[in-house]
Amino acid sequence: MTDDIVRLGQRPLIVSDVDEVVLEFLTPFKLFLESRQLRLLPSSFRLTGNIVDLQSGEAASEATVKALLDAFYDAQERWQTPAALVVKTLAELSAEADIVFLTAMPPRHAARRRALLDALGLPYPLLASEEPKGPLVKYLHGARELPAVFIDDILRNLHSVRDHAPSCLLINLMANAEFRALAPAPDVGIHVAADWAEAARLIRSHLRAAVNG
Ligand SMILES: [Mg+2]
Repeated sequence: MTDDIVRLGQRPLIVSDVDEVVLEFLTPFKLFLESRQLRLLPSSFRLTGNIVDLQSGEAASEATVKALLDAFYDAQERWQTPAALVVKTLAELSAEADIVFLTAMPPRHAARRRALLDALGLPYPLLASEEPKGPLVKYLHGARELPAVFIDDILRNLHSVRDHAPSCLLINLMANAEFRALAPAPDVGIHVAADWAEAARLIRSHLRAAVNG
């Protein structure tokens, strides 16, 4: 499934989500919506029901939200920018760990995303799948006795990885501060990082603890 894209060395593994973690998502998606006379209201932690027509005030249907996301991803290189510090932080971490991006978008958008990540200086392997993330991380990391880290903005994905690859350090990172404030509180065992500087500190201490046993 993934062997043609990902070849891991005998070193730690960092698996990171892309939208809202490596690439800004909510901030540019809001701007994209405004360009179409729509607004994303920060009234709860979901998209459906919170995207309203600026003229009529009516909320977009679930089907419309899906079509808007497709249109956004089709033009992602015009809208999405790297999260603060991510390019430098991952370049530094790549000296001691393998990095793999695991993005939950439909695979048909993966080529555009690959091109965008390459253009931004984020050349790490990319897997695009809408399958639950836990089994994918388990498949990647297997039974290796090396430290692993998983980073995502969505708690459901962190829980999936906790269930299937319980040795992973779990980090909840969300680029957009406005929506971060609306997110549900994570369970015990999930570390919250406000930005990539804090994520890097958590990752380095996890890697050091593994070396020191
Ligand atoms: Mg995400």
